[in-house]
Amino acid sequence: MTIRENDSEMEGFLTDASNLSGGYAERVYQPETEREVQEILAQCSRDRIPVTISGAGTGLAGGRIPFGGVVLSMGRMNRVIEIDEERGHAIVEAGVILQDFQTEVDSRGFLYPPDPTERGGQLGGNFSTNASGARTFKYGPTRSWVAGAHIVRSNGEMIGLARGACRADGYSLRIPAERESIQLTVPHYKMPATSKHAAGYFAAPDMDGLDLFIGSEGTLGVVTQIGLRLIPKPERLFSGIVFFDDEEKMLSFVEEARDRSRANRQREGSDLFDARALELIDPNALDFIRETYPTIPDAVAGGAIWFEQETTERSEDQLISAWAELIEQHTSLVNDSWFGLTESDQERMRKFRHAVPSSAYEYIAKHRVRKFGTDMAIPDNRFREMYRFYKDSLASSGLANLTWGHIGNSHLHVNILPSSEEEIPKAKQLYDLFVTEALKLGGTVSAEHGIGKIKRQYLRQMFGDKGIEEMRRVKQTLDPAGILGVGTMIGESIQNSK
Ligand SMILES: Cc1cc2nc3c(=O)[nH]c(=O)nc-3n(C[C@H](O)[C@H](O)[C@H](O)COP(=O)(O)OP(=O)(O)OC[C@H]3O[C@@H](n4cnc5c(N)ncnc54)[C@H](O)[C@@H]3O)c2cc1C
Repeated sequence: MTIRENDSEMEGFLTDASNLSGGYAERVYQPETEREVQEILAQCSRDRIPVTISGAGTGLAGGRIPFGGVVLSMGRMNRVIEIDEERGHAIVEAGVILQDFQTEVDSRGFLYPPDPTERGGQLGGNFSTNASGARTFKYGPTRSWVAGAHIVRSNGEMIGLARGACRADGYSLRIPAERESIQLTVPHYKMPATSKHAAGYFAAPDMDGLDLFIGSEGTLGVVTQIGLRLIPKPERLFSGIVFFDDEEKMLSFVEEARDRSRANRQREGSDLFDARALELIDPNALDFIRETYPTIPDAVAGGAIWFEQETTERSEDQLISAWAELIEQHTSLVNDSWFGLTESDQERMRKFRHAVPSSAYEYIAKHRVRKFGTDMAIPDNRFREMYRFYKDSLASSGLANLTWGHIGNSHLHVNILPSSEEEIPKAKQLYDLFVTEALKLGGTVSAEHGIGKIKRQYLRQMFGDKGIEEMRRVKQTLDPAGILGVGTMIGESIQNSK
């Protein structure tokens, strides 16, 4: 284990990819074994020292930024322990970087479906934020791929959970731990009817105990080891970036592609029309990267949709025809759109999609601009209303903005970029208006980035004081010293802090 106490050595652990600044810590621990994690936590629990768990720091909600206490960095626990090709199952340490893991499983003919746009995060960070990405449209978020985990409680005790082995009885959940089992009450709030959700603790009657920890943002325990499911790599892939001259036609295209894909998933057979990704890049976002990609056509009033479709040698031609037919019905820019069948084509399109958020984040950092970026998902049947609300409100605000995201999951990142100090309150007001509208339509305040330290008031707005109190009780049971992730999600304050 390495312990860092110099300011210059700790600097890299005091920020993440959010706007939040001002982080500070006494010390950074870099453990290499579960035993070391257990010892650090047991000691910190005894001394009531706050512990902030750090993954790779790509989070967008400030969860890994410490405000006092110590940082427990998982980066040195980065071994892929096992890939069982027969079972399609892997065991990894939490500090393995997603990109490295995807490359490793790909070389063995497997796919690990979760694909957040940012691949530099750790699998432990992905677990703790229930990260998701473009392929979530077909395959669900990280939660759907977690088969088990080792979690160290704040008192140093180890919890080992396999999916299916620890189920709640209604709202009563008993979690097995090293010394004695832990009894807690599952919160009674209702999960939103969205296809993605990453705000607050997962809760449902008869839920699997493992699900409580997935998406808990480092507030309930340190995940040290994760069991992940893998699937055989699809034989072939067909993908495209389709440009639209009209917004309404773009929305109709998405709805039709989404509904046909979902309907086909209920049917027998793997060779059916079934998008695995449906992603939007709006006209302002296209303008943002136009210099790097001069072949983006001019008249793209509806934006661009990036889609991916898995195929086989047998089904490829027929599926390409089905997509071509649908595209031709909805845009006149077919000949200006880009399509690809090879791995290098797919990679180019993924890079294009990634260029949007990464250029935006670079621009923001370089020009010290503040960004207000939404992460709300809406039930599919209310999405058009929300889309209209976003666009109309943005237009009348006059604020600079660009939008991208996971439109197949009715989940967009609307980014408002105030250009002066005076515009900041206006941008914040607009963001608050979007949250209120999303909740009114039955949505969630966070679909994938989590609550962290910057969105706590929205979590309260979503679940009310009662919901927050129920979460606080769960946390208190699992972390009685109140040392983990202080200030994250429910703003737990530290007791008897030194
Ligand atoms: C350009 C860009 C694009 C992005 N695109 C996406 C996207 O498409 N989808 C998406 O979901 N996210 C996206 N993100 C956000 C980010 O990549 C994810 O939230 C990711 O899961 C964070 O992983 P990390 O290792 O960097 O975690 P960190 O930022 O280090 O930590 C995130 C939270 O998890 C906790 N944590 C970390 N490791 C552990 C552990 N081992 N045990 C317990 N708690 C832990 C931390 O305390 C913190 O609360 C994007 C970020 C950027 C910068």
